[in-house]
Amino acid sequence: MKIVDLFQPDATAVSLEFFPPKDEAGVERLFQTVADLRPHSPAYVSVTYGAGGSTRRLTLELVQRIKAETGMETMAHLTCVGSTQDELASVLEQLASAGIDNVLALRGDPPKGETAFVASAGGFAHADELVAFIRQRHPQLCIGVAGYPEKHPEAESFGQDLSNLKRKVDAGADFVVTQLFFDDRDYRGFVERARLAGVTVPFVPGIMPVTNVSQMRRFTATCGAQFPARLSARLEAVQDNPEAVRALGVEHAVEQCQLLIAAGVPAIHFYTLNRSTATLEILKALGR
Ligand code: FAD
Repeated sequence: MKIVDLFQPDATAVSLEFFPPKDEAGVERLFQTVADLRPHSPAYVSVTYGAGGSTRRLTLELVQRIKAETGMETMAHLTCVGSTQDELASVLEQLASAGIDNVLALRGDPPKGETAFVASAGGFAHADELVAFIRQRHPQLCIGVAGYPEKHPEAESFGQDLSNLKRKVDAGADFVVTQLFFDDRDYRGFVERARLAGVTVPFVPGIMPVTNVSQMRRFTATCGAQFPARLSARLEAVQDNPEAVRALGVEHAVEQCQLLIAAGVPAIHFYTLNRSTATLEILKALGR
């Protein structure tokens, strides 16, 4: 089923993002996480796409296995990194023939150690090209794309980034999932600007609860998200107490979700990092 058909006008769906684990034990832990979260009725789950061959195969295997074993709808992420058009076509064929209906079409980040993204020979330079390629070959697929409430770090301005988001939607994307953010005003401003620019598809905010201060500082440094000053000060005050950090991270995420639900977002996408505890606490606090 297409993810956009799961969105209901008067309800906020939950989606969960996982990444392909490195080993079999990690895969088993991931399925335990899925089992822990499943009673809270997530509408769908997504699996990220990594840089290497084996993790890429695992993305395909996991979306198929989660769908077959749990009945939940799934979405495979797909990036342009290191792939020719033929290779991307082959991944898309595999997804479509495995009955996967949803794909998150991304450019991807430069490989480790490189600072600028360079398109592969015979590949794509930007996600809008991948969206157009998917739409042309598999018109039935539901396509999500990434959006950046605080602007993509490489973009020179919010306006330029928004024009590029619009290109992805004009190329055939059905919905937008956002990068993580910590201040609801960034999300609202972003969606407002997009609506004014004529982007009409649904936007799904991405939420990542802080569970570890240094890890989160690393993530935010690379993706360009800012900690609001008050949250930052509160986290710093308890940073040597992991339990207090986690409680604060969950509390902040619950407040974010409450504001987003009140604003009528179609879904909330949780970056779970393959762990259930924080997401479970948030869902319980939201009465889900
Ligand atoms: P693009 O939309 O191509 O944008 C990249 C930059 O280029 C932006 O600055 C944009 O303004 C500019 N741009 C876009 N189109 C054009 C154009 N036509 N001409 C000129 N400039 C243009 N990464 C992974 O490796 N695997 C994953 O599974 C993954 N999942 C993600 C899930 C979500 C929800 C999000 C938000 C990000 C995810 N990422 C993932 C990270 C993502 O790959 C990076 O943020 C990457 O740097 C940009 O990808 P994009 O699809 O947004 O690129």
